[in-house]
Amino acid sequence: MYRWQITGLLLLSALALFAAPAEEPVTLQGFSANSSQKEREWETKFRSVPSPENLRNYMQRLSARPHHVGSPYDKDNAEWILAHFKEWGWDAHIENFDVLFPTPKERLVEMLEPAHFKAKLEEPTLAGDPTSSQHEEQLPTYNAYSADGDVTAPLVYVNYGVPKDYEELDRLGISVKGAIIIARYGGSWRGIKPKVGAEHGAVGCLIYSDPSGDGYREGDVFPRGAFRPPDGVQRGSVMDDTLYTGDPLTPGVGATKDAKRLALKDVQTLTKIPTLPLSYADAQPLLAALKGPMAPPQWRGALPFPYHLGPGPTKVHLKVKANWDLKTLYDVIARIDGSGSPDEWVVRGNHHDAWVNGAEDPISGTVAEMEEARAFGDLLKQGWKPKRTIIYAVWDGEEPGLIGSTEWGEEHADELTQKAVAYLNSDSNGRGYFFAEGSHSLEKFINGVARDIDDPEKKISVWKRSQLWQIENAETPEERQEARDRPELRIGALGSGSDYGAFVDHLGVASLNLGYGGEDGGGIYHSIYDDFYWYTHFSDTTFVYGRALAQTAGTAVMRLADAELLPFDFSNFADTIHRYGDELKKLLRNKQEETRERNKEIEEGVFTATSDPQKTFVPPDREEVPPYLNFAPLDNAMDALTQSAQRYSKALEKAKAKGGAVLNNASLGALNELLIQSERKLTSAEGLPGRPWYRHEIYAPGVYTGYGAKTMPAIRESIEQKKWKLADEGIVEVGRVLNAEATLVSQAAEELEKAAE
Ligand SMILES: [Zn+2]
Repeated sequence: MYRWQITGLLLLSALALFAAPAEEPVTLQGFSANSSQKEREWETKFRSVPSPENLRNYMQRLSARPHHVGSPYDKDNAEWILAHFKEWGWDAHIENFDVLFPTPKERLVEMLEPAHFKAKLEEPTLAGDPTSSQHEEQLPTYNAYSADGDVTAPLVYVNYGVPKDYEELDRLGISVKGAIIIARYGGSWRGIKPKVGAEHGAVGCLIYSDPSGDGYREGDVFPRGAFRPPDGVQRGSVMDDTLYTGDPLTPGVGATKDAKRLALKDVQTLTKIPTLPLSYADAQPLLAALKGPMAPPQWRGALPFPYHLGPGPTKVHLKVKANWDLKTLYDVIARIDGSGSPDEWVVRGNHHDAWVNGAEDPISGTVAEMEEARAFGDLLKQGWKPKRTIIYAVWDGEEPGLIGSTEWGEEHADELTQKAVAYLNSDSNGRGYFFAEGSHSLEKFINGVARDIDDPEKKISVWKRSQLWQIENAETPEERQEARDRPELRIGALGSGSDYGAFVDHLGVASLNLGYGGEDGGGIYHSIYDDFYWYTHFSDTTFVYGRALAQTAGTAVMRLADAELLPFDFSNFADTIHRYGDELKKLLRNKQEETRERNKEIEEGVFTATSDPQKTFVPPDREEVPPYLNFAPLDNAMDALTQSAQRYSKALEKAKAKGGAVLNNASLGALNELLIQSERKLTSAEGLPGRPWYRHEIYAPGVYTGYGAKTMPAIRESIEQKKWKLADEGIVEVGRVLNAEATLVSQAAEELEKAAE
């Protein structure tokens, strides 16, 4: 579901603890005290196994036919993957869930005025692309979880359709009340567009792929180039997954056969208005016929006419009707039991379902995960045994709403809460730079892994290459300096957009999302053209970055599974937490200054004097200046975390200086148990304001952005929405979880200190 943003780049450190040369016998973090050399040898063996040829063959098989949720080939793929896991020595099974997945019954978009035009809503076969002709099995172009509806109304162009676009429309005196809106893809999770439109009174929503996004403005279009052809459509879910992810009928519990289900009318995550996606060929006549004011300069796309806003004279008839059936999901769940601590689980996942053939999304990641599984099978035969239990999941139902992973996470919530060490996710993979995002307590760890992986194109470590990319692309001198000097590359916070959601947001399991990309642009996302032909002509055509992903994720899994002491670290986390806190204070300050300035300009008559009398302009209203907030509970908690993080680092150094082998099994067990719970401490039982399913207090997808991470969301979103009482409560709550975290880290430090005495 997710499109990689290169901005999420991660990368590395000169002192990374794992960078110790192999002959150095002891390093506690990430390796065992007494056997780090042996563990490194196993890792080297592991990394030699994944083969580009296998990746290519698996992709050809898995993407040979459309395999969306509920299709015969979706089930067939799951069974084929299962058979392989078994053959490779895993204890594997399929876990089923029955979930709401609407499929289209009626779709209609026609322009009634000023001229008649009927949208095609179809993607044609392209000569030379063999699977593009499988129309019988292809899911039509649609947005899943759109409300059913039949509406006729004038059209308004709303840019990306996010809240600030509506502020701009307000200034221009344009209302979408009673209108059908047309928004371009980008700028937010697609489900935000109909949600915000409906909040402003729109009665229908069209979402189209402007060629400025992933079409001809970026390069030649498919099949000549990688980019979106005129009839290519981005399917996708418009579920409001900022409330909760997974099956809309079973929030918080697994969608098993006899689960208690909501009635359809009580579901909050469906859109309020009918919504359909369009190609730019279909959108063009509708947009070209609009009159009214010109769209603001940044709103204009790459179609060959002036972009007007409307409303009208374009009048559109939009009709959407779906089959609201339950469909069965097939999650492949495979495990290797740990030999030492079987009740500590390292979980790894990637989805297998697609919108159509899905060679890039998700199969490019699925095949890497499979090669990891095969490599572990090889190692098992050679006598390797992981200390902890490794669970490999190949999820179904990610595309509609992270459903397979969410239902599994909810169904096994108690066990996961107790046992899950970490969750490692991947999704679409491409060619280029390594990136990671996720829990900051794993930042040092994943930097260490990246230092040990070779970039297949440049023959330097993928860490080094990402570091150099960051130096080149830094936006400020400070950022550039930091990329040069900071031992670890920073990793971004997780929002939403792939299967880590339930693990980190709902269960508080430390998570990482990994992949390669940045040299693999394209415009086939969620269309019938995301297929084997496209991938093998325009993306990681030699599959060497697929191999790099298998090597990276597999190495991370091995280290987490075998490390005597789990490789969590809190110093980088504390450092990042302070940045998040500073950002909030700055956000409030900026809001205060902006409001003061605007109020002053209103008094001075700036808006009335400078607006063009021949154009409609509605000046903004005076607003109350945001109050000062008391950040003390947050500041105190952040400082407490810094202190306990320092104490832990010091204790770790001391233990290492003593040769590492200072912990007996009992104290190691107690210490690891604390570390496993460290991410859980960042959650609250009540969850975030207005969306209790989301329990992580440090990051969550934004209510009005969807996939983008909001850090300390209970505070940040309250400030953004000018809810000052909620902001105060958020400060107290985030302070509370950070204090709990600081206490846990101090306890862990104490265990280490005792051992090293
Ligand atoms: Zn995906």
